[in-house]
Formats: sequence, structure tokens, C-alpha cells
Amino acid sequence: MEHKKVRVRFAPSPTGGLHLGGVRTVLFNYLFAKQHKGEFVLRIEDTDQTRYVPGAEEYINECLRWCGLNPDESPELGGPFAPYRQSERKALYRQYAEQLVKSGHAYYAFDTTEELDNMRQRLRSPENPSPQYNHELRKQMRNSFTLSDEEVQELLVKNTPHVIRINMPANEDLSFVDMVRGEVTFQTSLVDDKVLLKADGMPTYHLAVVVDDYLMKITHAFRGEEWLPSAPVHLLLWKYLGWEAHMPQWAHLPLILKPDGNGKLSKRDGDRLGFPVYAMNWADPNTGDLTKGFRERGFLPEAFVNMLAMLGWNDGSEQEIFSMEQLIEKFSMDRVHKAGAKFDFEKAKWFNHQYIHHKDNESLAVLFQPVLQEKGIDAYPAYVAMVAGLVKERCYFVNEIWDHGFFFFQQPEGYDEAAVKPKWNADKEAFFEAWSAQLGTLSTANAAELETAFKALATERNLKMGDVQLPFRIMLTGGKFGPPVFDIVATLGIAETQARIAKGLAAFK
Ligand code: GLU
Repeated sequence: MEHKKVRVRFAPSPTGGLHLGGVRTVLFNYLFAKQHKGEFVLRIEDTDQTRYVPGAEEYINECLRWCGLNPDESPELGGPFAPYRQSERKALYRQYAEQLVKSGHAYYAFDTTEELDNMRQRLRSPENPSPQYNHELRKQMRNSFTLSDEEVQELLVKNTPHVIRINMPANEDLSFVDMVRGEVTFQTSLVDDKVLLKADGMPTYHLAVVVDDYLMKITHAFRGEEWLPSAPVHLLLWKYLGWEAHMPQWAHLPLILKPDGNGKLSKRDGDRLGFPVYAMNWADPNTGDLTKGFRERGFLPEAFVNMLAMLGWNDGSEQEIFSMEQLIEKFSMDRVHKAGAKFDFEKAKWFNHQYIHHKDNESLAVLFQPVLQEKGIDAYPAYVAMVAGLVKERCYFVNEIWDHGFFFFQQPEGYDEAAVKPKWNADKEAFFEAWSAQLGTLSTANAAELETAFKALATERNLKMGDVQLPFRIMLTGGKFGPPVFDIVATLGIAETQARIAKGLAAFK
């Protein structure tokens, strides 16, 4: 067989925010393309003008950039198969629809919206709640099957609004081999005569996806399982257009399910259960509704991507943390599960925690700056990095650097007095006065050396380390929390430590 360069595509419709399942589709496309040294195309499927939402395409570009899943060809970048926005390719679809009419695989239909509504009203029954325009029903409608050739010609000459529908055969079994599901078979009688070309001259998704996958030389088409019912229409179009030999290999990716496994995870589940479902915040320009995103919730893109890779795939081992390079190397479609993957937000947090814990302090400091800025705090990057290094192992999100380390940026406003006062006495007070004075003479800000000096002074004054270390911590942080106390001193510096001792001593009196 001729060896074809791998070309895959992500083909979203710009209708709103990008669901995490959409990003996983991008990821699997991307991994497959990189692994095979192929190309990853972003194609915007915007032929349904009624569903078009301004800003959605820019949002998709931004999501891909944030995740580091950059396409090789796209509307933004251009490429050898441009344009990559289907609305800009409008003129080239009609010829294929007409070709299908000529070969008898498609037909003109002149039914008005009103006639279609009437038909649905008339035929609706409890057994058949949404009657379909199919191989039976077409016999009762206004189309090439019921009108004479002359009538059809006359209507066309008069520019009568019409659509072109696929002539779905009755009673045929259609099969294809899906890379995830193996052989899948459909019965054509169950599929309706889908519209291919609309009255406004725009193709529907069904026609455009096949024409563009062909013209753009797509070799593998990965998409969500929700598109499986459309596969028979696409299979027939590949065949009827004479392109069967070029049909991409398909993989229908498993759904991402609600945490309890009951159905597809939706945006509403996120609102209800308090976690993001979209990649990034999405503000609907029509309603103004805001849907929260993983990015704004504090996820690192590498953690988000790693988490998504594990939703429906593993490498056969227990390993869960994979770098992008490892994913590119290890990914394989035959290890993608058929069954839906339950989304577990706690697990998503665990991934983020792992990545934060292992991220370098300087990068964390950069990510944490906006939080400080919002609070009106100005701190040196190197200082913020030191703080990040001390608290990162406790953080699930970047903003939690604040929760675990706020006292590095401001003096305590109150103290856990109950933990100090009952055992507070003149000896301890004198100890801290001496310790503060001694700090002024030390030429070190090394945590271990500070600890040695502190211990020596306590021993000298017959105080147990435990008796003075807790009050010291509380002077510095306000409570019984924070990283090792001498790490705090080393970070705060001598002068700030002395200031806090003085303030604490005044409060404990
Ligand atoms: N435009 C479809 C969507 O919005 C693409 C489906 C496909 O990849 O074939 O998801």
C-alpha cells in the first residue's frame, strides 16, 4: 500500500466554549500526528450560521495555545489547503452535491419550512415522536422523487429555494472498522435523508466534513463518540463521490461521563458539582453567562493535558504521570478504551498537585504574581520563588501558595493566643528578647545554622526547644502552620524576623 503522510484534523464548530472532551480529542489527534511525524490541522466548521457565536474561534485558538497543542495548519496560520474555515470554502461544495444528484445518490427537495413542520405535526405519535424525512416519507414530500423532471427543472430555473438531500438506501448493512471499536455496522433504513446542501447554498456538516477531509488529504479522523450515528452518512458519501479508497481511518473516542457514570458530562454538571468543564472561562456573548474553565480554576496546562490523556487511555502500566514527549512516544489508539471515562475532579486536582510540586520555583512565582498583584502586594520575583519552593508541596492550585504562605507577604494580624498565653512566662519573654538581639549579631541567614543558634540559646537558658519553638512560629505566622520555622526565618530575613518577635512579645504580654 502506498505510504501516506499522516494528516489528522480537529474540526470544531465555533459555537461556544470548549468542553474538556473537545480538548481530549485535540490531544489524541496531536499525539497521533506527532508520533507519526505527520500534520495536525485545525479546521473551523462554521457552515451552520445559525449556531455561529462570535469569539468562539479565537477562544479555540487560545485554548490550543494554552495547552501547547499547536496545529501545523489552521485559519490563523494558513497552509497548503487553505482556507481552513468552511464558510470561506462555500463555493466549492455545491459541485459535489450536484455530482451526487447526477449519479442518483442525492436529490432536490423543495419543501418549505412550513410544509416540513406540518408533516411533523401530522405524523407525530407516541411511537414516533420525531418523524424523519427518510426513504418512506420522501414519497409524500415535494422532491425529485414525487415531481416530474420538468417540474424540478422549472422550479430550479425559477430559483425556488431548495435543499439537496442524500438518497439513503433502504435495508442495506453498512460497516466500517473503527480504530477504537473494531467493526461497526449500521442499517441504512434507520438513517434519514440528511440535508447535504442547504437553501442558502451552504453545505451541512455532513457534506463539508467529507469533502474537506478528502481535499485536505486527511488520513485519520478522530472525533467524539457522539458522531458515530453520522458515520453511515459519511461512509456513503465517500463511496458515492468515488473516494472510498481515500477514506480516512476513523476513531470514535469514548465519552467523558459524569462522576457517577450516569451519562455524558455536561457544562451543567460542572455548575452543579462545582468544578470546571470547559478548558478556559467562557462568557457567552448572547446571554453573558460565564462558564468556568480549568485555566482560571488554577490548573497548569501540562497537568490538564496529562489528566485528559488518562481519560480513556493508559499505556498498560500503572504509570499516570507522563510528559508530552512520553505521551507522544507511548500513545496508541488500540489502548483507547471503548467504554466512557468517568470524570473525577479529585483526580484532576491530584494531577495538578503533582505538577505544582515538581514545577520549578521561578515558574510558579510568575504564575503566582497575578494573585499578589490583585492584593496590591509588590514582592521580588526571587523572594516569591523562595516562598513557592517552601509551600508548593502542599498546593493543589497555584493560588494556594497564598493560603499556605500569606504570612511571607504580610505580618500576622492576629495570633493563636490560646496556643501561647497559658504557658507564657517571664523566662520565655527574656529568651525572645535575647534571641532577637542575637539575631542582629548573626552573619548567617542559613536555616540550619539559625536552628543551631536557637537551640544553643534555649539550652543555655534551661528551656526546652518545644517550649519556645511553637511561640516563635506563632510570632512569625500567627498560627500553628507553615513550613519548618527556620526556613521561614531564612526567607523572611533577620530584620523582618526581629520586627515580628517584637510585635509578638507585645501581643503575648
Ligand atoms: N464539526 C464537528 C464538531 O463540531 C466535527 C466532527 C468531526 O470531527 O467530524 O465537533
